[in-house]
Amino acid sequence: AIILGIETSCDETAAAVVMRDESGHGTIRSNVIRSQLDEHAAFGGVVPELAARAHVEWLDHIIAQAIDEAGIALEDVDAIAATAGPGLIGGVLVGLTTAKALAASLGKRLIAVNHLEGHALTARLTDGVAFPYLMLLVSGGHSQFVLVRGVGDYERWGGTIDDALGEAFDKVAKLLSLGPPGGPAVEQAAKMGDPRRFKFPRPLLREERLDFSFSGLKTAVRLQAEALAPLTDQDVADIAASFQDTVAAIVETRSRQALDRFSRAFPGQEMRLVVAGGVAANRRIAAALENLCREAGAQLVVPPIVLCTDNGAMVAWAGAERLALGAESDLDVAARPRWPLDTPDMKVGA
Ligand code: ATP
Ligand code: MG
Ligand code: FE
Repeated sequence: AIILGIETSCDETAAAVVMRDESGHGTIRSNVIRSQLDEHAAFGGVVPELAARAHVEWLDHIIAQAIDEAGIALEDVDAIAATAGPGLIGGVLVGLTTAKALAASLGKRLIAVNHLEGHALTARLTDGVAFPYLMLLVSGGHSQFVLVRGVGDYERWGGTIDDALGEAFDKVAKLLSLGPPGGPAVEQAAKMGDPRRFKFPRPLLREERLDFSFSGLKTAVRLQAEALAPLTDQDVADIAASFQDTVAAIVETRSRQALDRFSRAFPGQEMRLVVAGGVAANRRIAAALENLCREAGAQLVVPPIVLCTDNGAMVAWAGAERLALGAESDLDVAARPRWPLDTPDMKVGA
């Protein structure tokens, strides 16, 4: 089947064409992304109203480009998949409404996709990973462990109780007058820094639960930055490096615990850890996870970074996986600002 995927839940306007063959093998025919970084830069964060307007302005062009680059005509698609949540509701409405209009006018199937399911299933498009596997989603809006048992079949094993990890990177970047974008800027600064100069707290780490907390760490970084002000370039680099090493250690420890739980839940089953979300781009964190998975004998899958951050291909692919199981959405399907992966209505056929 040929699927058009539309993603507008945050600050990327994205559309892609993905093919899925009978055997379940996927091919990306096009993957067009327009980031709104410049529009929001002056405001220090994503402004929902501006985001929605930019999606309205750009989505038609991005879809046309995706169809064009795929070398097909709009009529050739079998279904149109769009993110229906979770996310900024104005943006979600733009994408979902566009998908409904296309589906209705072309007489094609509509598939409402949960954005998190898009992230969760990407590793099957890129690496054909088999169920079950563990997903660590670390992005600007989410930080969570999810057991992926099948399409639509998820169990949340823990997550952040305050800030997302990408958000923590972005806030630390701001404190240090780096970026935007914050994450890559902190990583760059950390290269020149001494990761042992500061000892930052590792909240919750002694507890057994698979949760994260990054807001206390961020506060510790702020207090350290204030104590040293005015900061030299070396101070900035040392704080960035110390912060980055601390979160790498937190993520590694938590992932080890999550893999332990996986091996207890599926004795004898190969352990698989799939990473998704923009923070997967961080080399220090990726190295910690590579190290962990080597030690634990687990398979580590990190899709190419353009497929880890928000994109249309993951939405098209999730739509393709659902379509293959006979799923289809009604034209009156609702856009949802909140939509956890482990709600019963995620089940195919629910
Ligand atoms: P969500 O997908 O949860 O709605 P989002 O669109 O903000 O949120 P992504 O596009 O997946 O998330 O990722 C962006 C986040 O990843 C930002 O918070 C950014 O700082 C972080 N990030 C990107 N590159 C790096 C890096 N090299 N190191 C650390 N963090 C990074
Ligand atoms: Mg984004
Ligand atoms: Fe995302």
